[in-house]
Amino acid sequence: MQNIKFNSILLQLSLLFGLIGYLINLYPIPLFANVELIVGNVCLVIVAAIAGPYYALLTALMCATGLYVSWGSWYPFLIFMIEALWLGLAVRRGYYLFYSAIAFWFLISPALFILYASLFTELNEEHILFIVIKQAINGMLYASVACLLVMLIRPLSKLSLKQNTRKRSFKQQLNYLFALLITSAMLISSLLYNHTYLSDQQVMVQNNLQDSMGSMSKAAERYLKTHQQAIRNAARWLSLANTDKDHWQSMLTRLNQTYPNFLTMLIADHKGNILHASPASMLADKPVHKLNVSDRDYFREALYNQNDYISDVFLGRGFGNDVIVAMSSPIYLNENYQRPQAIIEGSLDLSGFAQIEHGAMQRESMSIVLTDAKGNIIYASDNLGLPPLSTFLFSRSGSYYSMSMPMMNLKNTASEVPEYLYSQQELSNQWQLYLLKPFAPMVTMAQRQYLTSVAMLALSLLVTLGLSSLLAKTQTRPLELIAQQFKYSDKDRARPEWNEEQISTEVEQLYDQLKLSQQELIRQQLQLEEQVALRTFELEKANGELQKLAERDSLTSLYNRRYAENQFKQAQTLCQRGEQAMAVVLLDLDHFKMVNDEFGHLGGDASLKTVAGLLSNHFVRETDIVSRYGGEEFLLILPMCNPLKVEAHLKDFTAKLRNTQITNPEDGRLFSLSVSVGAVIANAGYSSRIDTWIKRADDNLYRAKSAGRDKVIATIIEDI
Ligand code: GH3
Ligand code: MG
Ligand code: MG
Repeated sequence: MQNIKFNSILLQLSLLFGLIGYLINLYPIPLFANVELIVGNVCLVIVAAIAGPYYALLTALMCATGLYVSWGSWYPFLIFMIEALWLGLAVRRGYYLFYSAIAFWFLISPALFILYASLFTELNEEHILFIVIKQAINGMLYASVACLLVMLIRPLSKLSLKQNTRKRSFKQQLNYLFALLITSAMLISSLLYNHTYLSDQQVMVQNNLQDSMGSMSKAAERYLKTHQQAIRNAARWLSLANTDKDHWQSMLTRLNQTYPNFLTMLIADHKGNILHASPASMLADKPVHKLNVSDRDYFREALYNQNDYISDVFLGRGFGNDVIVAMSSPIYLNENYQRPQAIIEGSLDLSGFAQIEHGAMQRESMSIVLTDAKGNIIYASDNLGLPPLSTFLFSRSGSYYSMSMPMMNLKNTASEVPEYLYSQQELSNQWQLYLLKPFAPMVTMAQRQYLTSVAMLALSLLVTLGLSSLLAKTQTRPLELIAQQFKYSDKDRARPEWNEEQISTEVEQLYDQLKLSQQELIRQQLQLEEQVALRTFELEKANGELQKLAERDSLTSLYNRRYAENQFKQAQTLCQRGEQAMAVVLLDLDHFKMVNDEFGHLGGDASLKTVAGLLSNHFVRETDIVSRYGGEEFLLILPMCNPLKVEAHLKDFTAKLRNTQITNPEDGRLFSLSVSVGAVIANAGYSSRIDTWIKRADDNLYRAKSAGRDKVIATIIEDI
């Protein structure tokens, strides 16, 4: 597990953004029905982009709290926290933030929401789908806006943690930018468009309901009035005509034929006994006691209260068991207008309202419910399945829905999800008329709108990505050309022939500047090479001299003692390997002090140079090492020598020196010198230490001096 070290600036930033997100999320923007647009989560995405998953989690908590306050649902906590982690981790891994958001809103969020909705809500499938689409649109919108903000606002991008930032091609970057721009632009415009469209639709539905309500209520009132008028007129006519009661039957039958919407009609005397009925056949097989209506409201109201009466809805008896509304009027006889002597009644056919409904709303997908003053159903459209006479039960629903019309539920009265939009009006007789329009088609329409938006977005993204890829190619092709040019071109090659239409002035300038830089670079490189060569030459010279100084004696130019001693080891090893002999010889000039005294230092030096020259000429093998051992002493190392000839060769040298005339540089006087020589000759295996050899040679030198000087004393060591 990675150590989480909190950076205080990022912590403050995530808290600040969390607070802003919290405040914005307190006021989600209503879109349609119970669907709202969440904007505060822009903050969450910004923090995920610049500070990673853990800070984003903090911001997500605060953003979700804002929504919790306004919605009362805990679901935002779940989804926002997962979103924050997902986006933060994606950015940390180097994925494009916006593409990760798309993946989240189309893969993870739908799965989570479907699970949540099926466990904790009663939303139907269609509504769930709608919300999933809305969430995806919402999520993509604020993600794209947040990504653009992070890209465009410099201080934000500077604050970013050093996360895994993959190197990306120009094409990828261009695609990404275009995707962001298109998505945010498309979504904002489609949301605005959808919002206006759906609001217009609502207004249309509302107007529609109101129009239909107007014509429906008028038609219903007319239906009632016409029939009530018919009853009233019949009563007046009977009162005034003073005809024989035996004629009433034929009059009643004629009236019923004129107004066939009366299922039955009757005339009852002041005791409630039915005198006449229409159809007349109904009286034929009925026992007399059943033919009394004195307990009926329509009888009492007409007879005792002398009203033209319309009843509430009730179940008829006697003449069939239909659900009916009765209309009645009092009949006065013999000009006695104080007390009616009879009543006339008509039972109105309620299916007449079905004809009215068909007439008024032929093309509308609306249903109607007509109730009496007590709230009992007089008529309800077939599709509602509400029987007449039952109480009209419904609940008002959708209190969280931002709709301009009231909503109700008939079936699931406990649910807040609306089943119908409706409009209500009271008729003049206190009956209530309801017009209902199903709510689901509105949701379907909204859903279709949003689906179309997503499809349009997908299509435009595809086209845009294609276009931006093409654009990227046209922009990177010249760069590739330039790169190739610099890869293969020799420095003096002229600028290539561009296809002027493809090449922008910036690219041309870039090429020219690169060319100039390249030439300058080559010039400087040549200059540098020249300087290096010069310095190397000087250095080699100095090194040579240094080596000479280290190896040679400055007066005689012979090797010095240190060099000779160093070389000894090599020579000895070589000889030992070949079981060869070698000689080590010490030479010391005789009475050299006297030479100095007599001829001065210059004379002494001249002598030393002469001896050195003679030595060099006498010991000429490549392997011979001739060195000045110090003062007027010389050391010879003669590898692979012939033991028997060394002494003679040394003697030849002493003779050569003895016979050499040296000129004193100061005064031109001539003089000669002698040398004493001590040598040791042995198989190289004698000793690997030069000291041992020199000791033996020095002993011999001492003996040569003692024996009178100008002598060679050599020891050949044969067995070791
Ligand atoms: P001998 O070896 O025969 O016993 O007598 P010597 O005079 O050579 O004795 P010694 O070795 O004691 O003296 C060496 C002298 O060589 C001392 C010094 O004045 C002289 N000498 C040594 N190195 C140089 C040199 O580089 N230049 C000159 N001019 N003289 C040198
Ligand atoms: Mg000496
Ligand atoms: Mg000497």
